[in-house]
Amino acid sequence: MSYQVLARKWRPHDFESMVGQEHVVAALKHALDENRLHHAYLFTGTRGVGKTTLSRILAKCLNCVGEDGKGGVTSHPCGKCEACRAIDEGRFVDYIEIDAASNRSVEEMTQLLERAMYAPSNARYKVYMIDEVHMLTTHAFNAMLKTLEEPPEYVKFILATTDPQKVPVTVLSRCLQFNLKNMSPAAVSGHMQHVMQQEGIPAEPAALDLLARAARGSMRDGLSLLDQAIAFCAGDVTLEKVRAMLGVMDSDVLCDLTEMVLEGRAKEALETARQIGLDGVSYGQAVRDWASLMHRIAILQRVPDALTDSDSALARIRTLASSMTPEEVQLDYQILLQARADMAQAPDEYAGFTMAILRMLAFKPAGFAPGGKVPEKKPEPARRTTKANDAAGAMPPEIPHDDVPPEIAAEAAPPWADLPPQEPGRGEH
Ligand SMILES: [Zn+2]
Repeated sequence: MSYQVLARKWRPHDFESMVGQEHVVAALKHALDENRLHHAYLFTGTRGVGKTTLSRILAKCLNCVGEDGKGGVTSHPCGKCEACRAIDEGRFVDYIEIDAASNRSVEEMTQLLERAMYAPSNARYKVYMIDEVHMLTTHAFNAMLKTLEEPPEYVKFILATTDPQKVPVTVLSRCLQFNLKNMSPAAVSGHMQHVMQQEGIPAEPAALDLLARAARGSMRDGLSLLDQAIAFCAGDVTLEKVRAMLGVMDSDVLCDLTEMVLEGRAKEALETARQIGLDGVSYGQAVRDWASLMHRIAILQRVPDALTDSDSALARIRTLASSMTPEEVQLDYQILLQARADMAQAPDEYAGFTMAILRMLAFKPAGFAPGGKVPEKKPEPARRTTKANDAAGAMPPEIPHDDVPPEIAAEAAPPWADLPPQEPGRGEH
């Protein structure tokens, strides 16, 4: 048997198995059950979130005749009748998928509309699915307006686009619009887990989490990456191999780097940066992963139980979250984003990356003594607010943050704590 890629093999065949688009599914099911069907739908959303899949399911709902051949329009297509099977297999003559990117001219649209006038050959509804509809020319759009407003009763239009901004309002106003959401990494990795169980291939949850994050909101991209990972890992999908496949850094290295910056260990940080290059990871990717780490730290600081993933680095991220102030995390995140944007203009990637490290060090609050003298590390306090004030003597205090536990805040409060708050020391260089 020939191998079928996962994205196709696991394409949902009914509303129940759709992942992550509950709001759209509920509205469509309701419309089908109440028999309140619009004649034109517009599905919007980025690639790989389920526009085509949803369109095929809807076509089946409209044309399913049930196993006994007597069924009507339903929100639960049987999957067994000729119409259901033909649509699933892509050979149903009255379900027509058109890619507007390659059929965009007015002539092609006119031909299509002329054919739409004929009744379906062997079905209840003729369903036209026009993908990437924003690619149509203005003339083609104009040609379809009339039909789109009042199509023959046996014709349904399903338009799909990744870029609804480019669809004329005259078209938008004739369609019922549904915005498909980007898939959350949790939804993608949950589905991957299900697929892997069904396929009987062992996979580490952390490896799937990493793949899901790399899919950036697209289930199709996620399953393609999973295909790639299965091939790359030759059987057992592990975090280590997936990391190597994606060229993603070990998050431990980034946690180490963050710690070095926090403690002003500039020399070690630069040495680590050099090592990253030697390990063959691109600095651009490293900057991105580091920003992603800062993002996770910031989330953990505000909502401690927000990250439910099985990341092995979670414990370390928690430690970092408790030893940085939210302001520092924000600033470091901003520095990394800027470094990413500047990467193309930097003398080289290594310079771009290390400059980001040096910038973080330069903007470090009180704890960093110029001239490379690193303040003595105290074993006790975990929060830098306290550490910084202890070590820096006369430096102005950080504004105490509202989530500092009272006992730490009291311990750290210097004599001038009653004065009106000043600007924090960072950012003035
Ligand atoms: Zn059926």
